[in-house]
Amino acid sequence: MSCIACFIDNNNQKKLKKNCFGLDRFELKLKKYKESFLENIKKLKSISECDCEFRNNNSEYVQWTDSFLEETLNNISVIEDTFDDIISIYISYISENTKIATDKIWSFLQQNDLLNETESGFTYSTIYFRARIYDKTFNKSDINNFLHIPFNKRGLVGNQRFSVSGQPMLYLGKSIYGIKKELSTPINNLAISAFIPYYKDFYSKKYFTIKNTLFDTIAKTLPEIAKDHEIDYDDSFLTPNRNSIKKDIKKSIFSQILTFPVEKKSSFISEYVLPQMTTTALLENNFNGIVFPSTKDFSELKNYNIRSDHESNFAIFVNYSESNQYDDELLKNLLHFTLNGKEEFNHSVYEILNKFELVFELNRKSNYHNFIAPLISLRLQVEYLEKSKIDGIEYYETSYGKIELEFYSKVADFYLSIIK
Ligand SMILES: [Zn+2]
Repeated sequence: MSCIACFIDNNNQKKLKKNCFGLDRFELKLKKYKESFLENIKKLKSISECDCEFRNNNSEYVQWTDSFLEETLNNISVIEDTFDDIISIYISYISENTKIATDKIWSFLQQNDLLNETESGFTYSTIYFRARIYDKTFNKSDINNFLHIPFNKRGLVGNQRFSVSGQPMLYLGKSIYGIKKELSTPINNLAISAFIPYYKDFYSKKYFTIKNTLFDTIAKTLPEIAKDHEIDYDDSFLTPNRNSIKKDIKKSIFSQILTFPVEKKSSFISEYVLPQMTTTALLENNFNGIVFPSTKDFSELKNYNIRSDHESNFAIFVNYSESNQYDDELLKNLLHFTLNGKEEFNHSVYEILNKFELVFELNRKSNYHNFIAPLISLRLQVEYLEKSKIDGIEYYETSYGKIELEFYSKVADFYLSIIK
């Protein structure tokens, strides 16, 4: 038995998608995924009756999620149509050509009003990490070596889920654990840097988000709000609501299909077709980047706060320069940190949170306000992972956690140097 929360959880969706492995054409996998999605959604029970971790008896919350489920079941045809539309775009790519299919993906996003939900600039005003496999041929302390693949080395830009071969982008990850997963390389062989986008430069830009927004709302946000507020599915001031259902369903299915796991890596990867065409369409239409979840397996990380987005990636599009090898303007929009080789990686969570507190306190007395947002977000990220463990070792005792704390310490020191 499942409820709407454990059904739309990425882990469950990944299971449904992996059940389609073995079919020899991606279009067949998509059709099978559609069938099992529909079959399972029709059997869902109330969150109050489910035996999963999301079970909840708060009457406000139960009523909201029951109404949501009822409305979803009233819109089964929207689910079917959305799958069919996306599958037909994929078929257009394999049977017609890239240009036609890319235009179709753009019309799909436009006609369904899925493009105008860019998140507030504050969402990006936080720390991101960037790593490269360290082959001893570059200086690990020079931030230029971390920006993006230089314009004269385009040939090195490979085929990735959201990256078109030959088109450099700045790839960032929300946690060092996440980037290690993305690069499939032991942490000791990575050179690592950190970036914090300046709010003033990022708030007005357009980033497209591939995210399980419905799950985030239903499993993460609403249970908290419902504790001491009334929530009403018919309230049009809060989204999702009864009027947004069609859009919620479409965006959710689009995100799930774009993160379809790869069964076999080869020179042509069917699962990358739709994500790469989405990237191309966004590039052509003046978007500045894309936020997407990792599709790697994070199951050995246990006991983390459900709000943690350690799996999130952020790819920033770069502007071509004729005279420079890098997008130097982009670098000016980012606060950045590298390691100098002298770090001891021995900071404790307690010490770092105290350091943040000191910055907050001094900040209140000063006229600098631009680093409150990143610091609040860093503090939350520390708290979300504080009790988590990998193979029984607390996250901040692992090398991932230790390196993150080192960067957090550098960030706090940098802010302190400005305030003092
Ligand atoms: Zn459940």
